Amino acid sequence: MAKKIKQIAIYGKGGIGKSTTTSNISAALSTMGYKVMQFGCDPKGDSTNTLRDGSYIPTVLDTLREKSKVNARDVIFEGFNGVYCVEAGGPAPGVGCAGRGIITAVQLFKQQRIFEELDLDIVIYDVLGDVVCGGFAVPVREGIAEHVFTVTSSDFMAIYAANNLFKGIHKYSKSGGALLGGVIANSVNAGYSKEIIDDFVKQTNTQVMEYVPRSVTVTQSELQGKTTIEAAPHSEQAKIYKGLAEKIGNHTDSKTPSPLEIAELREWAAKWGEHLLRLEQQNIPQDKLAVNS
Ligand code: ADP
Ligand code: MG
Repeated sequence: MAKKIKQIAIYGKGGIGKSTTTSNISAALSTMGYKVMQFGCDPKGDSTNTLRDGSYIPTVLDTLREKSKVNARDVIFEGFNGVYCVEAGGPAPGVGCAGRGIITAVQLFKQQRIFEELDLDIVIYDVLGDVVCGGFAVPVREGIAEHVFTVTSSDFMAIYAANNLFKGIHKYSKSGGALLGGVIANSVNAGYSKEIIDDFVKQTNTQVMEYVPRSVTVTQSELQGKTTIEAAPHSEQAKIYKGLAEKIGNHTDSKTPSPLEIAELREWAAKWGEHLLRLEQQNIPQDKLAVNS
């Protein structure tokens, strides 16, 4: 019997650290012996470049515009430690739906049975989370991915995007859509940012997979065009990414989250706003704002 391929999607607001986190997870999983494909679904096509020494690969949609018949192998490129890299790409600016690339690429791979041929263990979709176009919901809605993770910081707009994602997951959960594995807390350094995210996951009946600090090691690695797993494999940050990758590799049970209504979310945020203001008035340094961390 063919083995089951684990398909997961990582969502989050633009610029929040999805591609950085995803690439480090892919790289870490590959070092643990998993056969991994990272499937970039951002129309910018920049998901996989730190797996390929900072170089950009041709996208599926660009390739389809040039050739009428595309072989799946034309759009799959090997990166660090054998990780397979794909970029769905986007439509020509101003025309068409950006989700088109995801649908087209997935269909192409299905027809050519490429996941089976490559004997993959895990496919990770790196998806833009401000779901403005239905196309981005594809990995969730169509049940392409089974488990969804979201990257968020403690910033309100990032949490707002995560909550919107939860709404989407909730909506499609009864019709075979993907369920939520958990939240990846990124750029948590100040104590209060951990507390805000902890409270948000409690409110929405979800869980934190890992707290990833903002780290100059990530910046240095990115400037070299590499993941932290490749550029600084023995660093503290690499250890954190490896721990996260292991949890994701072993993850089996995802759930339907309980998103907050917009009024509830506003009220929740306002409470945190007042709390932080009070702490500031007591002159507690920002990084010591934590009550108990
Ligand atoms: P996204 O894919 O969500 O748009 P990226 O992964 O491209 O975001 O990250 C945006 C920027 O933030 C990048 O320059 C990246 O190096 C940086 N970044 C993300 N996470 C961290 C982190 N934990 N520490 C330091 N820099 C980070
Ligand atoms: Mg990205």
